Amino acid sequence: MELFWHRRDLRVADNVGLAAATGTGEEGADGGPAAPVFVFDPDVLDHASDVRVRRLLDGLAALRDDYRERGSDLLVARGDPEAVLPRLAAALDADRVVWNRDYSGLARERDAGVRRALDAVDVEREAHHDAVLHDPDAIRTNAGDPYSVYSYYWKKWTDRTKDDPAPAPTAHGLADADRLADAASALDALDMADGAVTDGGVGWLPSPADLGFAEPDAEVGPAGTAAARDRLDDFLDEAVFAYEAERDYPAREATSRLSAFLKYGEIGVREAYAATEEAMAEAESDARPDDAPEQVEEFQQQLAWREFYAQVLFHNPEVVTENYKAYEEGIAWRDDPDEIAAWKRGETGYPIVDAGMRQLREEAFMHNRVRMIVASFLTKDLLADWRHGYDHFRDKLADHDTANDNGGWQWAASTGTDAQPYFRIFNPMTQGERYDPEAEYITEYVPELRGLDADLIHEWHELSPTQRANAAPDYPAPIVDHSERREEALAMYKRARGEDPDE
Ligand SMILES: Cc1cc2nc3c(=O)[nH]c(=O)nc-3n(C[C@H](O)[C@H](O)[C@H](O)COP(=O)(O)OP(=O)(O)OC[C@H]3O[C@@H](n4cnc5c(N)ncnc54)[C@H](O)[C@@H]3O)c2cc1C
Repeated sequence: MELFWHRRDLRVADNVGLAAATGTGEEGADGGPAAPVFVFDPDVLDHASDVRVRRLLDGLAALRDDYRERGSDLLVARGDPEAVLPRLAAALDADRVVWNRDYSGLARERDAGVRRALDAVDVEREAHHDAVLHDPDAIRTNAGDPYSVYSYYWKKWTDRTKDDPAPAPTAHGLADADRLADAASALDALDMADGAVTDGGVGWLPSPADLGFAEPDAEVGPAGTAAARDRLDDFLDEAVFAYEAERDYPAREATSRLSAFLKYGEIGVREAYAATEEAMAEAESDARPDDAPEQVEEFQQQLAWREFYAQVLFHNPEVVTENYKAYEEGIAWRDDPDEIAAWKRGETGYPIVDAGMRQLREEAFMHNRVRMIVASFLTKDLLADWRHGYDHFRDKLADHDTANDNGGWQWAASTGTDAQPYFRIFNPMTQGERYDPEAEYITEYVPELRGLDADLIHEWHELSPTQRANAAPDYPAPIVDHSERREEALAMYKRARGEDPDE
C-alpha cells in the first residue's frame, strides 16, 4: 500500500506523483494500490483567506467525486502533516508516501519536516516534479545561473521537449473505499485521542467555519477537473486564435480564466500544454488566418511566465517579503492609510482602477491588464509599498499564487526580476481609454458611472466639481493628481537609486 499526499494537485489525471504511487504508466513501476489523502495543515491555514478556503473546499469536493467514481475515496485529516502522515501510513500499513513538489519556501520547509518524520518511522517517501513543465532547476543560463530575464528563459523553455500528460490511475491502482474506511476507523481509535489528528475521515470535508473562516462575499467560480477541461476546451475552440490581439481588453473575455484551476492543480500543465499544441497545429493549417500561430504562441508564453516566476521564487524564497532588486537607499514609500483604503474599496476616482478593485471584491478575480494598472496605481500614484497590494491580493484572489502574485507586484513596482523600468508609469486614464474604449468593463463594475458617455468617463479627472456632481454624484473625485504623483514617484525612485531627483 502507498499513500498519495495531495497538496496543490487536486486532480486524478495527469498527476505525475499519483501515477507513480498507483503504478500507472511506466512499465515496471512498482506502485499501488494507493490511498489518496489530503491534510488540512494549521500552518497553511494560518496564511489562507475566506476566498481561498472556499475555493479549496470546492476543489476537494470535486476531487473526492472523481475518486468515488473510481471506487475509491479521499482520506481527509486535519493536523500537522509531520504527525498525521506517519500515523496514516501506520493505520494503512503503507510503506511509502508519495507527493508532488511544491516550490515555495514555506512548503519546502514543511516537506523537509515530513521527510524527517517519515524517515524516523522507516516509511519511504518520494517527491515528483509535476506542477510545471520544466522544474525550477532545469532551465539555467549557459553560465549555470537561474534566469532573471524572461525573454531568454522563454527561448530555452520553448525549445525543450515537453513530457506527455501522465496517465490517470485505473481503479485497481487505487485503494478501494472499504479499505480506506477501515483505515480511518483504525486511525480514529489510535490517534484522534492524542491530538495529532484533530479531525478527519473518509470523504470528510469541514465547513469554512470549522476551519475558522467565513463564507466569502465573492463568487469564487467553478472548481475541479471537469470544469477546468470545459474552460480549456472552450478557450482553445476559438478565443486562443485571437489571444494576442484581444487579451488586453478586459471587457472581451478573451483569456482562458484557467488561473485558479492551475493554482489548485485541478488541470495538469502537461495536459493543458498538449491541448495548446493541438491548437497550434490547427493554427498552422489553412483553416486559420496567417497570424494564428503567433496568437497561440502568446498563450503558451503565459504558461512559461508562470514557470519563470516559479523558478524566481524557488531560487529566491526571500522575494515573498523583500524586493528582488535592491535599491541602494531603500524606497521611501509614502504609505498613506486613507489612500490605500480607498484603493482597496475601489473609490479612487480613477474609473479603470476602481472597476478592477471591485471586480476583485465581487469575483475574487481581476483581468491581467487591470491587475497591472491597479498595481501601478498603488505603487506609483499612491506611492504605497507593493507589499500592501500583494497582501490584499493574497486575501482576495481565488487564484492567488505566491510566485505569480509576487512576480506581478514586483514587476509593477519596478523592484522585481525583469520588471517594468521605474520611469515607466502607467497613466490610468489613457490605459482605460485604450483598453476599455466603450467603458463596458468600467460600467459593469462601477454602477455609479452607468449611462454616462465613455468619453466623459475617460475624462473624469479633467471635469470640474460641478460637472462631476451633475454627471455621477455618487462617484468620487480623483483622490490624487496623476501628473503630480508621477513626478513624485520618479523622484522617489531616483533617490532610492542614489540619483539626483531633480535631474
Ligand atoms: C499584480 C499582479 C498580480 C498577479 N497575481 C497573480 C496570482 O496571484 N496568480 C496568478 O495565477 N496570476 C497572477 N497574475 C498574473 C495574471 O494576471 C493572471 O495569471 C491572469 O490574469 C489569470 O487570468 P487567465 O487565467 O485568464 O490568464 P491567461 O491570459 O489565459 O493565461 C493563462 C495562464 O498563464 C498564467 N499566466 C498568465 N499571465 C501570467 C503572468 N503575468 N505571470 C505568471 N503567470 C501568468 C496563469 O496561470 C494563467 O491562468 C498577476 C499579475 C499581476 C500584474
